[in-house]
Amino acid sequence: MPSPIRAPRGIKDIIPPDAFRFEKVLKEAEEILELGGFQKILLPLFESAALFSRSIGGATDIVEKEMYTFSDKGGDLFALRPEGTASLLRAAIEHHLADPGRIVRLSYSGPMFRHERPQAGRLRQFHQLGGEILGPLTPSEDVDLIALIYKMAGAFSIPSWTLLLNNMGCPDCRPAYREILVEYLKKHQQDLCATCHHRTLVNPLRVLDCKIPSCQIVLEAAPRITDFLCDKSRLHFLEVKSGLEALEIPYTLSHRLVRGLDYYTETTFEFVSDALGAQSTWAAGGRYDGLCQELGGPDIPGFGFAAGIERLWLLREKAGTLPVLPSPPVWLTVFPLLQEARPSALRLVQEMRNLSIPTTGYFGSGKIKSAFRQAERDRSRFLAFIGEDELASGTVQVKNLGTGEQISYGLKEWNRIAQEIQKTVLPS
Ligand SMILES: [Zn+2]
Ligand SMILES: [Zn+2]
Repeated sequence: MPSPIRAPRGIKDIIPPDAFRFEKVLKEAEEILELGGFQKILLPLFESAALFSRSIGGATDIVEKEMYTFSDKGGDLFALRPEGTASLLRAAIEHHLADPGRIVRLSYSGPMFRHERPQAGRLRQFHQLGGEILGPLTPSEDVDLIALIYKMAGAFSIPSWTLLLNNMGCPDCRPAYREILVEYLKKHQQDLCATCHHRTLVNPLRVLDCKIPSCQIVLEAAPRITDFLCDKSRLHFLEVKSGLEALEIPYTLSHRLVRGLDYYTETTFEFVSDALGAQSTWAAGGRYDGLCQELGGPDIPGFGFAAGIERLWLLREKAGTLPVLPSPPVWLTVFPLLQEARPSALRLVQEMRNLSIPTTGYFGSGKIKSAFRQAERDRSRFLAFIGEDELASGTVQVKNLGTGEQISYGLKEWNRIAQEIQKTVLPS
């Protein structure tokens, strides 16, 4: 016998009944974005690989190691999307949605793909929900979007969360800081890991992100970007902080919060939680003022975030706020007890569905015992069966599986049957 083909490593099926709840977790988060005036955009799963190296940055982990790339028959290089912002901007530019004269709020959701080392909570296909605000933004738009994520934290009772906040400066002040940082890193080279050495050369700000404890001691003492901000960036940072304070949204300053992507400027933030063991991020984002122009669009600022749906799921599970399953999923199971009753049973199934009763039929004529077993597996509320006697008299037996009450109906008394079922399942 051939061995079964399994899902690729790091790829997870989401099976019933979790699939229903997973979509609901996403939907409920999307509803909060809708409340904030975001409009949904449906984006493709793959793009030109160049889109990501140009936006995310060639010297980032995502582009260097984690992207799934492939060539098509024409020899063009594509990549499965590792994140949503670059795609969204590409589409916004292509369809002239990004306009210097007005602000648009766009959201997206769906699977993202990164070739990461599979570990707990890290999948190679994972799901994100994201929102981006494009246009002539003020620091208040940064705060406004952070406030929506804060709303999610409350609505879903996300346990023990913290909002980390930083400002990464702008093209005016970051280059000078970068030099100061590189000088410091080189001075402490012997205390840093090999990855840090590599990053010092190609992307020094990313060194601040290193999770190795011995590196962290060095990095905690490193010069802080917020001490080297130009006036514009400093005022931006101040306005974001005072906006959060006005809304009474608690935050913690984190000077090492640089995010793994090159396109951020000014505000960066992460919502983390301790509930899943190590401090893990469930939503994060920031300002990207040069990205739109970098991708060939108009010179307009952007501010966005992405939330991990798998993380939201785990945190809501922990909090006991996962969406409840529809109860019952099936209201009626129809079971012919002999082959001759199949046409009547088929008809009954269709008529019940026409009357909006969720109905399944099992047509492999068998014993009444297996009918009960099947109905139980479906978590069905009613069982209808047509045996020899019923066929002869043109009737159908409908049994309430909760009370055991059994009523005989005419085979075509569809409305009466539906009413009886509705009355029980949806008590007014
Ligand atoms: Zn600046
Ligand atoms: Zn390191």
